Amino acid sequence: EMFGQLTSGLESAWNKLKGEEVLTKENIVEPMREIRRALLEADVSLPVVRRFVQAVSDQAVGVGVTRGVKPDQQLVKIVNDELVKLMGGEVSELVFAKSAPSVILLAGLQGVGKTTVCAKLAYYFKKQGKSSMLIAGDVYRPAAIDQLVILGDQVKVPVYTAGTDTKPSEIARQGLAEAKKKNIDVVIMDTAGRLQIDKGMMDELKEVKRVLNPTEVLLVVDAMTGQEAAALVTTFNLEIGITGAILTKLDGDSRGGAALSVKEVSGKPIKLVGRGERMEDLEPFYPDRMAGRILGMGDVLSFVEKAQEVMRQEDAEELQKKIMSAKFDFNDFLKQTRAVARMGSMTRVLGMIPGMGKVTPAQIREAEKSLKIMEAMIEAMTPEEKEQPELLAESVTRRKRIAQESGKTEQQVSQLVAQLFQMRVRMKNLMGVMEGGSIPALNN
Ligand code: GDP
Repeated sequence: EMFGQLTSGLESAWNKLKGEEVLTKENIVEPMREIRRALLEADVSLPVVRRFVQAVSDQAVGVGVTRGVKPDQQLVKIVNDELVKLMGGEVSELVFAKSAPSVILLAGLQGVGKTTVCAKLAYYFKKQGKSSMLIAGDVYRPAAIDQLVILGDQVKVPVYTAGTDTKPSEIARQGLAEAKKKNIDVVIMDTAGRLQIDKGMMDELKEVKRVLNPTEVLLVVDAMTGQEAAALVTTFNLEIGITGAILTKLDGDSRGGAALSVKEVSGKPIKLVGRGERMEDLEPFYPDRMAGRILGMGDVLSFVEKAQEVMRQEDAEELQKKIMSAKFDFNDFLKQTRAVARMGSMTRVLGMIPGMGKVTPAQIREAEKSLKIMEAMIEAMTPEEKEQPELLAESVTRRKRIAQESGKTEQQVSQLVAQLFQMRVRMKNLMGVMEGGSIPALNN
């Protein structure tokens, strides 16, 4: 089990709260000590542990009671959210150049899995319908070049080699020219891995980077090295400027220190993780899924979230009253839409629980996009217009003005107004109040 020791260490923190009624300054002392111990044993860097423990205890003391939720469950939820934040929150996607080829420069110490990552990446892009080419830049180890050629063969992508007598920056220049000629989408350059950081390595990398002008400079680090991986990412970033890290060997018995420390220590995200020796064992790094796996408490998380949602729904009683009296306006509309958007990201967390059905990231992005459009239009309304949507139904001039101010089309504004009235009707119907729910025709 990945990070099994960390998981059971955290479990003892929740266990300290069994039988308690609320979280207090006093009764979180013991659990926080357990959390601290578990993180340190997982080889998370000390400053990170300190900040994490502080953030969790601040929230634990300040958190209100949600009916039906026990303190240990509440703490699981807080730790989960902080873990997600610690690892960067959102997935950090690879960036591609506007015009092909996009160039990825890979760096890393010897033995971390860099050559393997080159081929895995090529395979990863292939599945996305992108062509790629590998450039063999480790001129100090002929075996490394041979290995790259073999792996390239295996995933059926071309490998550019120029032997061991050419300078890496020159190989980079030639390889890039070749890729342009062949209309390759993504170029992946392998560089020399040494046993430790030295000036020669950094200078060479800087030179290669200058020649390639890459969209991504990724440092490959081994998860087994724990917080040392985070220190390496920091150093490489300061020396050559990198865009992120790839964490390998997560399938081994690593303790979690690297996954939890890299972003916080270096400021650079983990973009991808390697979870095995096969070509398909490379995937994006999802902080929320990682936190979910570490805690292993998907059911508790979803329960706490649902309970909090119920609380929010009770807050919405006032909203209901408004709807009953047909006062549901654009302010309420915005609140409602935002609540739904929140549910969307919540569903994403729930997606990792078997059998819970998953909302795709694309669907969430789509919902977030239309929320932004809506927000822009509603912001362009006067307070009066927000409270009396009828004003907008009646006046094409007002709708035109809003369109202009928000940078949207008149049609989009009309749609929004129509949507509000439809929502009024739908909600009234839902509550069995049938009378008085007519949708006004928009005046032209
Ligand atoms: P390089 O020296 O950085 O180029 O490292 P290699 O790509 O040659 O990999 C070193 C060893 O680690 C090889 O035996 C790989 O099969 C293995 N390896 C690479 N990535 C992973 C991974 O994600 N999981 C496991 N278990 N082994 C890996």
